[in-house]
Amino acid sequence: MQIPLITLKEALLLALGEAAAAQVEQSAYDYIVAGAGAAGIVAAEQLSQSGRKVLLLERGGPSLYSTGNTQQVLTWNDTMTTYEARPSWHWDVPKGIAQAAAELYEHLPGTNLASEDGKRYDDAAFDITSRFLLANGWSETDAIKDPEAKELVYAHPAWSIANGLRDTPVRKILDAAKARACFSLQLGAKVLRAVRTGSKVTGVEVERADGTREIIPLAEDGALLVAAGTHSTPRVLFNSGIGPAAQIDIVAGGTTNWIELPVGRSLKNHAVATITLTGAKENVPALPATAFPSPSQENIDLFAHSSGVLMQSSQRLNFWTSLNTTTTRQYAVQGTVRAGANSTISIQLYLTHGTSSLGEVSITPDGKTNMTISPLLRSAEDREAMSAGVNMFLEYARLPDSILTVADNVTAEAILTKIASGAHNLGTAQMRVSNDGKSVVDEDTKVWGTDNLFVVDGSFHPKVPTGNTQAPIMIAAKYAAKRILALRRDW
Ligand SMILES: Cc1cc2nc3c(=O)[nH]c(=O)nc-3n(C[C@H](O)[C@H](O)[C@H](O)COP(=O)(O)OP(=O)(O)OC[C@H]3O[C@@H](n4cnc5c(N)ncnc54)[C@H](O)[C@@H]3O)c2cc1C
Repeated sequence: MQIPLITLKEALLLALGEAAAAQVEQSAYDYIVAGAGAAGIVAAEQLSQSGRKVLLLERGGPSLYSTGNTQQVLTWNDTMTTYEARPSWHWDVPKGIAQAAAELYEHLPGTNLASEDGKRYDDAAFDITSRFLLANGWSETDAIKDPEAKELVYAHPAWSIANGLRDTPVRKILDAAKARACFSLQLGAKVLRAVRTGSKVTGVEVERADGTREIIPLAEDGALLVAAGTHSTPRVLFNSGIGPAAQIDIVAGGTTNWIELPVGRSLKNHAVATITLTGAKENVPALPATAFPSPSQENIDLFAHSSGVLMQSSQRLNFWTSLNTTTTRQYAVQGTVRAGANSTISIQLYLTHGTSSLGEVSITPDGKTNMTISPLLRSAEDREAMSAGVNMFLEYARLPDSILTVADNVTAEAILTKIASGAHNLGTAQMRVSNDGKSVVDEDTKVWGTDNLFVVDGSFHPKVPTGNTQAPIMIAAKYAAKRILALRRDW
């Protein structure tokens, strides 16, 4: 049965049990996971290991060709889409996290030598930058074997690539869940809100691709895990009557019975500065812009043997170190390096550990997510730290005999005017040990004031990691799902 669209205010009233209009789907689930991204897939698979009934809902469609995406195939290979081609995390139970990490890496081990013929392709940027760093006291590490090495070290990049294809949770982890009878996946299913009676969630309201809505019930002792990502999880929570009063006012027009929590606040991200150095004395060829969309026949032939430059991502070197600043915060940076143009080395410098700047995500009256405050370098101490990182490289490049150089008029100040996002957003429903007004979830990732509502994606991470985000988000989601399974007897 198709039901008419309802307003956000009506939706919230529904969430609060004051009206009932949406169709109710009959089957009840032990666990519903809202969002099939990096965290949602991993958490749902972990839950399905219990044999209990798990439903994974994803608003989007299929991503890989093998899962049904025939619309976005490559121009040079019509059986593959563009989607196929470690850091530190501290919970207070490191053993559990280490176990979750080991289990995840068993499925997605990563590699720093993706081409199966054992050769590195297009590696001149690694060659020259590694010598540049060695000359300044850095040393080489293997980021997969020794993920804790983070001081003045560089490495061949670790890529999630295996058997000639991008190694994704969709391929390795979702497939394991799909093989279990207790697990089901629905695509084109946008979760609008948790349906709750006071502190207890009884189901979710979902909007299908054709605009129809229905309520999918949870079993009496079931749980909802929201994993819609750092920008959409807050929207689902706001529409469920959970968040800062101002946001709930926008969706509810002053309805009472909300749970007031700082949802959407504490958004964090890696700020990225781009430093361009010149290797004028050596030939450092850059890949042409056509290398991936229209590869040469030689590279297509190599790819057929899981080899060649198409097997690799675009970065050629990663590095990590801590920074000296005048503040008491301990800052760290990571960098990725590629040849941006011929004889031109482009360094993307990410401000990581220590980042203090906070942004904010809110909801507009027409129900859209809005990043009202960008979290990039808002605090003076973060700007000082990023400046210190940029200046370190400018100083290296200005040393006599440096193999990479920089023009005299380049300054850290000018580089900081062009700060970009690392697309590593976190923190909009952050975890803390107590409900101190700054957090949204407890150490089991359960939303304060609820019985059975959890957040398991990047939103709950309180700090940015020293590396990229996907691996720590997957590991933390796996560990969180284990904790949620263990909690079951308590509600
Ligand atoms: C362009 C780009 C490049 C990146 N590159 C890297 C990289 O190289 N390495 C790295 O480690 N990290 C990278 N990241 C970051 C990484 O992708 C994220 O940190 C990670 O995916 C976050 O995982 P998540 O599960 O929290 O959210 P997501 O992976 O975003 O998953 C959220 C899922 O929920 C779905 N969803 C949203 N709303 C709803 C709803 N209402 N109902 C149902 N489903 C919903 C979304 O469609 C999505 O599938 C990159 C990010 C971007 C944007």
